[in-house]
Amino acid sequence: MSLNIPASSFYQKNKNKRLLDIEEKLEHAECQLKRKPIPQDFPISLLGPPANWKIFTKQDEALNYAQENGMGLMTFAFEERVPDSGGRRKYLTTHPSQMWIRHKSRPIEERCTYEVIPQSSKCKLYFDLEFSKPLNPQSSGEKMVELLIKATTYTMQEVFDAEVTESDILILDGTTETKFSQHLIFQSQNAVFQDNIHAGSFVQYLVNQLKESKVPNLSATEQQSLFINNDKGNTVSFCDLGVYTKNRNFRLFLSTKFGKNVPLIIAKNNSFRPALSNNEALFNASLISYFEDEKSVHQLLTFAKDVSGKSKHHDQKSLDPTLNGYKMSPWNEIDDFIMKLATPGTIHHWVYYEQSETIVYVIQGNRYCSSIGREHKRNQIKYVVNLPNATYYQTCFDPDCTRGVAQTIPPEYLPWHNLMGDLDAQTPDFDSVKKPNVNVASI
Ligand SMILES: [Zn+2]
Repeated sequence: MSLNIPASSFYQKNKNKRLLDIEEKLEHAECQLKRKPIPQDFPISLLGPPANWKIFTKQDEALNYAQENGMGLMTFAFEERVPDSGGRRKYLTTHPSQMWIRHKSRPIEERCTYEVIPQSSKCKLYFDLEFSKPLNPQSSGEKMVELLIKATTYTMQEVFDAEVTESDILILDGTTETKFSQHLIFQSQNAVFQDNIHAGSFVQYLVNQLKESKVPNLSATEQQSLFINNDKGNTVSFCDLGVYTKNRNFRLFLSTKFGKNVPLIIAKNNSFRPALSNNEALFNASLISYFEDEKSVHQLLTFAKDVSGKSKHHDQKSLDPTLNGYKMSPWNEIDDFIMKLATPGTIHHWVYYEQSETIVYVIQGNRYCSSIGREHKRNQIKYVVNLPNATYYQTCFDPDCTRGVAQTIPPEYLPWHNLMGDLDAQTPDFDSVKKPNVNVASI
């Protein structure tokens, strides 16, 4: 028997056609599956976010459930409608991505939802800014926000050596006819606090600095413009200092207060743009205690209060930073002395307080603090020079540190003292020297 033509080649074409048909169907099905792997109503997967959705009447129970289950679950508070009465606050534990799906599909007037910022959870730096328009006809909210951002970025740099720019700050707006209202939420990894109590202590410190016009990159008038009249007839900061309490409820993006119809939207003065330009990315960015990329957070900032509620180390009594600058001050000899002390660091900037005749030098490149006997990881150190007493001490931006002991500045760095000492039988008597000033110092 001779088969010169193999059977396979005879059937090849038909077989191929059938196989191709099947393959095509499989490919189509695979493609469909890839496009929509799981029905949208049940967005659950082993790799994706969990589908937990659990409602509680007590906040503690909700927070415990979230903590015990982990998986990125967060707790939200919402106002439940109760017939013939106001809303009733309930708590929901779910993943932010689930929250977003439900949140965006609700009618605006029913979006009365808040993030619960859990105590002891790391958090972004945030501000709640508000004032009554009728009580403050002269105040311009957007201008005030611009100034506050300037003061905050300066102070973040000064206290933590942390660089934050305006484009790192998400601004949400819920302003009405009668009330200015904006939220600022800092997106920079340089501005993550250990918890919202620490964040609040920092904001309190910043407000105190502004109140005393101590922030050198703003004029005194600009600093005072950040204080407004409240309905009790007091002058207070437009930063609400009451939003840094334990398990604080903080309103969500696109959410409105109960019975109002004014959702928080992206403010006109916002310049933050998320990497993915969509509302879900903005929603995630607006969450105070949620970090999409946990690994990117390397350092947690702390700013503790002492028992009296005041930050400890800022004890310069004076107001009005009358002179300030970078690197070199008008007191060249004292600059030289500080430079020697700061080695291997240098003078980052200096501020002169006229009333107390003190110069504060902020040092860069050296964080050795005598209070702890080693370098700080983040906090910068300072030298404070008291001109009338011809003394100096070292301090820092860590509120837990105590300031160093005041020491005498050697006479060779005090030419005016030498001059007066010459006149006074060549015995330098520091106590007898009263008021050196810029002119005398430059003789
Ligand atoms: Zn220190």
